[in-house]
Amino acid sequence: MSAPKKQDIDYAIIGGGITGLTLAIALTHRGLTVKLYEQAPSFAEIGAGVSFSPNAVQAMKICHPAINDAFERVRTRNIWESKQDVWFDYYDGYHDTGGPPEKPAFTIRNSTGQAGVHRAHFLDELIKILPPDVAVFGKRLDSVSHDDRVDGLYTLKFADGSTAAAHAVLGCDGIKSRVRSILFGADHPCAAPTYTHKYAYRALVPMKDAIAVLGEEMAQNACMHMGKGGHVLTFNINHGQVMNVVAFHTTEKEWPDSTRLATSAKREDALRDFADFAPYLKKLLHLAKPELDIWAIFHLGDNPAPAFAKDRVCIIGDAAHASSPHHGAGAGMGIEDCAVLSSLLAEESVVSSAHVAHALSVFDRVRRERGQWLVQSSQHIGNCYEWLAEGVGDDLEKVEAEINLRNGMIADVDVAGMCDDVVSQLHRQLSRANLS
Ligand SMILES: Cc1cc2nc3c(=O)[nH]c(=O)nc-3n(C[C@H](O)[C@H](O)[C@H](O)COP(=O)(O)OP(=O)(O)OC[C@H]3O[C@@H](n4cnc5c(N)ncnc54)[C@H](O)[C@@H]3O)c2cc1C
Repeated sequence: MSAPKKQDIDYAIIGGGITGLTLAIALTHRGLTVKLYEQAPSFAEIGAGVSFSPNAVQAMKICHPAINDAFERVRTRNIWESKQDVWFDYYDGYHDTGGPPEKPAFTIRNSTGQAGVHRAHFLDELIKILPPDVAVFGKRLDSVSHDDRVDGLYTLKFADGSTAAAHAVLGCDGIKSRVRSILFGADHPCAAPTYTHKYAYRALVPMKDAIAVLGEEMAQNACMHMGKGGHVLTFNINHGQVMNVVAFHTTEKEWPDSTRLATSAKREDALRDFADFAPYLKKLLHLAKPELDIWAIFHLGDNPAPAFAKDRVCIIGDAAHASSPHHGAGAGMGIEDCAVLSSLLAEESVVSSAHVAHALSVFDRVRRERGQWLVQSSQHIGNCYEWLAEGVGDDLEKVEAEINLRNGMIADVDVAGMCDDVVSQLHRQLSRANLS
């Protein structure tokens, strides 16, 4: 009998969003045997823009250099040459100074600058890298069961009645993860995300109209407009043709229906929510179409998952640490997860179910603190933008310091070093378990 190899282990990825697709690419690139099960009839992303911070860019390169190439092909930068290292210019969008402020209150920079992509365009590029026959569509995971007599395989049951088998289940199924509720029970508090009491209007505005209202500097480069109980972020997409506007509002009211995180609203609703803001910002909101999308911001901040893995089932990306979007780092953190997890699973010594269980327990140990910190920090920083954070308020110097401190913790990391370190931890753990 030949020695067991890492290719003999069958991995099932549940969910084909940014995390699931990236993980599938990273694992297949390392020669592992993977099937990706997606509930939808095809890959699809909802919403317009998503931006990536330097840690995410490092992680893309580790997962597969082609992911970074794909990102570079579709990314949009700030238009001005002088703003290439600017993440966002922050403006006081609240007080009326007789027109758009001439200067930002402060500027936050990083090594990638503003690095946004249109979600659908990025997804199209990722799909091109995924080997054919890896993804299976129309498969909504319903349950996972385990029969010890059958060679360590899990049986996955889908909503259409079909089944599949795998040695490990990697749940990339987003904020409402079925895998998370299978791991901890549908009644466990972490099974259901909670409302952050913020929602966001999303609109696309033709760039020439945005320039007419805001002027070129503000319209063509990424900006955050702060104010009491709300903030508006704007950045260009489609290589400068369109401005993406996301207007967040804080409310004490509950979200009416937690099964529907997105709904439609009227432009008048947005104008009412921003009635106290500076006139220039209201003029910008006037440019939105009369019918708008509105998104409730939910997260896993109140009831975090007690673990990211149990035995050979784990959760990754939003399934593990769905965060509010205020750091603009949720998807990037999912890509970081993929870099770490693929480094662990691709280790030559991981050749049996027992090895996989150890690899996933290392993943849980190293990723939980950082992923769950992001969720808490994102909530805090969203409140800073809206002058609601305790001890920070509308003191803009303090707001700036908070952003720099926390963005640094997200971006200024050595992802390759992280991956090397987890692999060393795995070796030590396998050796203690006499499995090396
Ligand atoms: C308004 C907003 C702005 C944001 N901006 C940014 C940003 O600028 N930068 C950033 O890094 N992040 C941002 N984020 C966060 C980012 O969007 C998410 O972190 C990221 O998209 C999560 O990807 P995912 O693949 O983990 O989950 P998802 O995108 O939710 O994908 C989950 C997939 O699993 C599938 N699925 C679900 N259940 C099942 C099942 N039972 N069986 C099979 N398939 C299933 C779904 O159909 C879906 O395809 C933002 C979020 C919001 C709401």
